[in-house]
Amino acid sequence: MNDAPVQGPDPQEVRSRLIEWYDRHRRDLPWRRTRDPYAVLVSEVMLQQTRVDTVLPYYLRFLQRFPSAFHLAAASEEEVLRLWQGLGYYRRARQLQQAARVLVERFGGQVPPDPEAVRALPGVGDYTAGAVLSIAFDLPVPAVDGNAQRVLSRVFGVDEPADRAAGRRRIAELARRLVDGPRPGALNQAVMELGATVCTPRKPVCTQCPLAGLCVAAGSGQPEAWPVRRRSTRWAEEDVVMAWCIQDGRVAVVRRPEGGLLGGLWALPYTRRAEGETWLAARARLGAVLEASLGQPLQWRREHLQGRWDFSHRRWHWRLYLASAGCGAGWNGRGGERQTGRPAGRAAGRRTPGPGSSGGRDGDSGTPGGMPGGAPAVAEAPAEWGGGAVAWVTLADLDGLAMASLDRRVVAEVARFGGAPPGHRALPR
Ligand code: SF4
Repeated sequence: MNDAPVQGPDPQEVRSRLIEWYDRHRRDLPWRRTRDPYAVLVSEVMLQQTRVDTVLPYYLRFLQRFPSAFHLAAASEEEVLRLWQGLGYYRRARQLQQAARVLVERFGGQVPPDPEAVRALPGVGDYTAGAVLSIAFDLPVPAVDGNAQRVLSRVFGVDEPADRAAGRRRIAELARRLVDGPRPGALNQAVMELGATVCTPRKPVCTQCPLAGLCVAAGSGQPEAWPVRRRSTRWAEEDVVMAWCIQDGRVAVVRRPEGGLLGGLWALPYTRRAEGETWLAARARLGAVLEASLGQPLQWRREHLQGRWDFSHRRWHWRLYLASAGCGAGWNGRGGERQTGRPAGRAAGRRTPGPGSSGGRDGDSGTPGGMPGGAPAVAEAPAEWGGGAVAWVTLADLDGLAMASLDRRVVAEVARFGGAPPGHRALPR
């Protein structure tokens, strides 16, 4: 351990003020009423990247259904994902279940007070391990999340960018010094609590902070200038075509592949719009796969719904096209926009795009077309589904599937657009 003098205030003074403040001002949260290591683990995994208010009902429901690692390990993944639905970052749910299975198989269903073993659990990084070990076992292990990073940067005036290795090392060293004393669990939670309630990213309330007078950032008059960051990373922006495709009261869904974005959850059929591809060409690609699954042509509505959805480092601009199967009647019983001039057989692998493949102004008007130059669309499941098949489920079953918030929101939009709630069996073809 590096015992070089710390720049800024005395860590022992910071530590005692923090714990004293925490004992008086901490919020009463359900996971603070227990020291059951499994419950602490569940809460910490749920709190990763997620606000306390959002987590509260999920935590209570989850622990009611899975009160121990044994219960969670024995559950189906589908059920776990369903309980997690709406909480986001679904990989956490699957990893938490894998962790429960490891606990059952190797540790008699208990979280061991062993830093190495806890860090080796699926989905458990340094932060989560530190939180569980310090809160449940009072071991002096630091837990540095975004809140702690901000508080420590400000209090000690860390000049290295917090998103660079040197900055992270410095903050980790400060956290290690702070936690090295009595009640390490309280200390870690105090730092995080201060970051969540007082030392917020914008407008920290220094007048109510127990560290005012010690804090380097507050002393500068510009506490928001910490943590120092290098240029913010750009979001990856993607255009995504989705389909609401109805046949005989059943709607097409696909399952996202494990390990990818929103892996394992059900979704409306979708594909990313390729560079240079028009929206309608991407729709045609998607439509060809649906037609191959149905064995008959689709009729598309001219209108589409659209919106934006932000993930942590990715932004989707989505368009939802609505289609029904069969000749003569369009979606909602009105005249549809015919996509193909001939039925596509189940075995059909290819289809020829309709005339006007160059599209309109930006390819959003006129008949669907292919890539610039008229390349034919191919009825292969988009790579985003990992080659999975299209499934057709009733509207009632759709309500019971584990879907991401994005898809739930889109389904709700369809209901608004079509004037019938999802799950309503009278939703028109
Ligand atoms: S004094 Fe202000 S900037 Fe410093 S830790 Fe407290 S709230 Fe944050």
